[in-house]
Amino acid sequence: MGDTNTTNDTSNPIINQGKLSLRDRSAVFAAQAASTLIKKMGLGLGSNLPGRIARKVSPGVLGALAAQSEKGVLAVTGTNGKSTTSGILSSILRTAGFTFAHNKQGANLVTGITASLVQTASIIDGIKADYCLFEIDEAALPLVAREAHIKCVVVTNLFRDQLDRFGELDTTSKLIAKGIMQDKSHAVLNADDPNVAQMVPDVERLFYGIEQVESGAASVCQVKGEKADSTELAYCRNCQTEVVYDRIFYGQIGHWRCPACDHHRPTPQVRAFEVAAGPLSSRFKLALGDRVEDCYLPLPGLFNVYNALAAAACAYSQGVSPEAIRSGIKEYTTLFGRSEKMTVEGKPVVVQLIKNPAGATQAVASCVADSNPGILIAINDNLADGRDVSWLWDADFEQLATKLSLDADAKVTVSGQRAEDMAIRMKYAGLAADRIIVQPRLPQALRSALDNLAPGQTLWILPTYTNLLDLQKIMKTMGAPMSGT
Ligand SMILES: [Zn+2]
Repeated sequence: MGDTNTTNDTSNPIINQGKLSLRDRSAVFAAQAASTLIKKMGLGLGSNLPGRIARKVSPGVLGALAAQSEKGVLAVTGTNGKSTTSGILSSILRTAGFTFAHNKQGANLVTGITASLVQTASIIDGIKADYCLFEIDEAALPLVAREAHIKCVVVTNLFRDQLDRFGELDTTSKLIAKGIMQDKSHAVLNADDPNVAQMVPDVERLFYGIEQVESGAASVCQVKGEKADSTELAYCRNCQTEVVYDRIFYGQIGHWRCPACDHHRPTPQVRAFEVAAGPLSSRFKLALGDRVEDCYLPLPGLFNVYNALAAAACAYSQGVSPEAIRSGIKEYTTLFGRSEKMTVEGKPVVVQLIKNPAGATQAVASCVADSNPGILIAINDNLADGRDVSWLWDADFEQLATKLSLDADAKVTVSGQRAEDMAIRMKYAGLAADRIIVQPRLPQALRSALDNLAPGQTLWILPTYTNLLDLQKIMKTMGAPMSGT
């Protein structure tokens, strides 16, 4: 294990790279035994309990295992796109021939990350991999950074999540910055999100961003010196003036600058241009320094182009070849419920998880870009979905109402515990009441949406998190298992 970058690292208590202590081995053993038992007893995925047990046996086990990866820990954080970005990054690393441990089930708090590591580890040798790849919740980043040395942190974007989750956007931003500053990790940042791009000026930073999209692409407005029409305000770090935009892609994402001083969007080293974001896939030119690659991304929407850019930028920072980056993006197979494409009873279905206004607006924009979409929206208000559904009012469902109103036969099916709220939301967005089918029970809602699908039509399903879990079970009984099943 001869990585000279980490052997001199005194901030990490684990200097004995390669060999696991007896205590850490016991932790791995106990956690794996618990995990086996959980599975045998059919107690679900058990994604956190083994982590808790391992940490009880050896509190330093996360740091010890992470330190065994030859090339270090890569972390992905931010509000939206963590799972997809780390998924695309894993596809790129695999293509480039690297091995890695990855918390791909999305358990992204400290215990969940520990659990995923101890489950991949061998009791004797621990982790034998080039990298550890962690998707990390924004608030958990400083906690993980305190235990494990993180080589590189990728930040996707900062949007307001459900109001009842974290408080202020500013608080989230500070937590991420704290996580990066802990070990002065290399930061890979979204140049187009002013709240991300202005972070951690004191560490080595690599920026990614979109230069320009093909005309006609959905949801792109070109402006000169405008303020963003978004709930996320952004201010200049130098003089606290609200930033303005020469080009806005969505939300507060775009080419920003301060109108009062000369502070502006940094020029990204990893850039996309000639972006054609389609309803099911996208094409763009990817500039990595001086090299330009023609990329095909099997995912819809501009937000996923950003996810691909974030992954590409991280891989680029690790010296992965442009060819491997291009083909890793192309070979990416979608994750559970993240723009996941499937065929159900011979009919095309796309499932896109929604959980906050910005993400939902982008998901809706993808449906609207489809010429003739079938739509099923399922909203629950369990703890994992966020108890407060008022965020539905901040998402742009108006574009969907406008689109559906143009077609005399188009209808939307709404489902879940808060089906009625969603129906009211669509009504206020301008859709006539007789176009809204309310079916709170998801199996029936899915049945009716599939039955009403015209030949050639794709059914877009936009579920909140616990609806997505229900959908996974329903799809399995219908003989169309989703990924992660
Ligand atoms: Zn300024």
